[in-house]
Amino acid sequence: MSADNIRIYGDEILRLKAAPVVDFNESLKATVEDMFDTMQQAEGIGLAAPQVGISQAFLIVGLPHEDDDDIDRLFFANPKILETDGESHFEEGCLSVPGITEDVVRPQWIKLECQDIDGKIHTLEDDGLLARVLQHEIDHINGILFIDRLSPARKSLLKNTLKKIARREPIETGSKTKSAL
Ligand SMILES: [Zn+2]
Repeated sequence: MSADNIRIYGDEILRLKAAPVVDFNESLKATVEDMFDTMQQAEGIGLAAPQVGISQAFLIVGLPHEDDDDIDRLFFANPKILETDGESHFEEGCLSVPGITEDVVRPQWIKLECQDIDGKIHTLEDDGLLARVLQHEIDHINGILFIDRLSPARKSLLKNTLKKIARREPIETGSKTKSAL
């Protein structure tokens, strides 16, 4: 799988609710390795399985280090947000909606339950970049895109651009974001 395999807005798989992960086997591990390569190639910091054509509830996050070019590689299966608090703004982009970045309002703090690559259950809390990326990727698992979270006015301004993206036509904005999820 390469960056070319990333499903783009208009692809129906991005609108499906993904099935829970039940088999935590070697094949899942291999797929996840592949996804990390794809995400890095696409210069993203998060990637959900439906974005590479797999309608299953798992996602990866590559949190950039401040002091070197390396990333923390994180995996989450069957994530469930248990609690949220606060509100924050963040300029989001999405590897599946290339060329658009928009300010998206989401809860600042989340408490999450999820499973690791061996199926073990964990809970975690975060109020930083990880919380933001997780909420965006969990939306993907539920068939929701960040553009769905914009105001109707904002969304209607993007209507033509979105049509172009769905038809794989070039768009004018074209700015590449460092926070493509
Ligand atoms: Zn995305």
